[in-house]
Amino acid sequence: MFFGPSVRIEDHTIYADYPRDVVVESTIFSDGKVQTSVLGTSIFEKSGDEYVALPNREVKRQLYRVLSEVTRKRFPWGSLTGIRPTIVAREVQDPGLLAEFYSVREDKAQLALETAQAEDRILETTGTEDMFVYVGIPFCPGRCSYCSFITQECRASAELLVAYRDTVLREIAGLSGMFRNVKAVYFGGGTPTIMEDEMLFHFIDKALDRIRPDRNAEITVEAGRPDTLSEAKAERLRQAGVGRICVNPQTLSDETLIRIGRRHTADQFFEAFSIARKAGFPVINTDLIAGLPGEPLGAFQCNVDRIIGLSPENVTIHALCKKRTSNLKREDILDDPVREGIADGMITYAVNRLEQAGYSPYYLYKQKDTVGGLENTGFSLRGKECLYNVAMMSDCRNVLALGAGGVSKKIFANGRAVRHDCVRNVKDYIQNIDKIIEGKIRFFEV
Ligand code: SF4
Repeated sequence: MFFGPSVRIEDHTIYADYPRDVVVESTIFSDGKVQTSVLGTSIFEKSGDEYVALPNREVKRQLYRVLSEVTRKRFPWGSLTGIRPTIVAREVQDPGLLAEFYSVREDKAQLALETAQAEDRILETTGTEDMFVYVGIPFCPGRCSYCSFITQECRASAELLVAYRDTVLREIAGLSGMFRNVKAVYFGGGTPTIMEDEMLFHFIDKALDRIRPDRNAEITVEAGRPDTLSEAKAERLRQAGVGRICVNPQTLSDETLIRIGRRHTADQFFEAFSIARKAGFPVINTDLIAGLPGEPLGAFQCNVDRIIGLSPENVTIHALCKKRTSNLKREDILDDPVREGIADGMITYAVNRLEQAGYSPYYLYKQKDTVGGLENTGFSLRGKECLYNVAMMSDCRNVLALGAGGVSKKIFANGRAVRHDCVRNVKDYIQNIDKIIEGKIRFFEV
């Protein structure tokens, strides 16, 4: 966050380029106390009164204070660098304390608390014995420059897609005894709607037939790339029981779309959105990304206004993120104060405009290496929130993930969540499917 791409780690020490030598050292003592010193002077020692943070959080909190003094940099989320600031918000229950203790900016503290309350409200509608199913189809028409998924370009791997589809169905059949109390099924990707009509219909029908979701379960299909959605697909998905569809422009600027390698236009997004509306999906989600290369603040604000004009039930605002596997370079995203300021302005504008338009935040998470350390937030019209998104982020609901790269989660009676990662490589997934099925059965049976 403070030093961008120059950071390297050797022998338990983190080095970063900086115009002068500054040594910062943080120690956790055996009694759990934390002390951080800079240039030999201890400047932050845990007081032990009122609110006490866990040691790992206390280290981050003290390091944040020291490094923001040294570099004169501040970030909207302060020392809350973890994936889920709503966990801390729920614990603290006070935006003032979040701001004062963790250096979180006031508007972000409010956002975290509001979202934590919405997450709790939504989770209460399900129980710990319920299951949430994810089906991953990691194929897309082409690869976006910021993509961090294991996505294959479909044009180069059409045969692989057929073999993959068959393997996922085999996995579902192999695990068929495990699908109980399924409250949501999420077909994500990639772009599942990349499949040709008949192939897609056969796949969704077969999958749902074997997963046997509960009668009112939420079924989502990602049609992330608008150029993959046709009237026939939309109507047939509705008939199959799909109630939520994601049609994601990411930006409505054709220049930016070209720059980030998405081979569709803004007009194609509007067309796909109207197809989804006409087909009668009760919930349509649209994603936008703040901080895309070369996109000015005004263009993003216009994107937000135009999306609100369509009245989608869900809108998700992401902060551009640098993942190891994406084509964007670290320096394209990180350690650029101008870009960080613009992305911050974009997200602040989106939050305010969406709230004015009747949307509320209902799930929120952060990723490593996002522009300005900013967050991703799902907004929804009341009563239209995506149950799967909240359950999956919560770490207190069982998730059975099917397909390559899927992350399953099992929740034990004491509330402990344990993860099970599936191989990410599509060919390895296909070749090892029997072992993968066995491993997943063992994981959930323990
Ligand atoms: S649409 Fe999503 S999954 Fe597909 S290439 Fe783009 S970012 Fe990756």
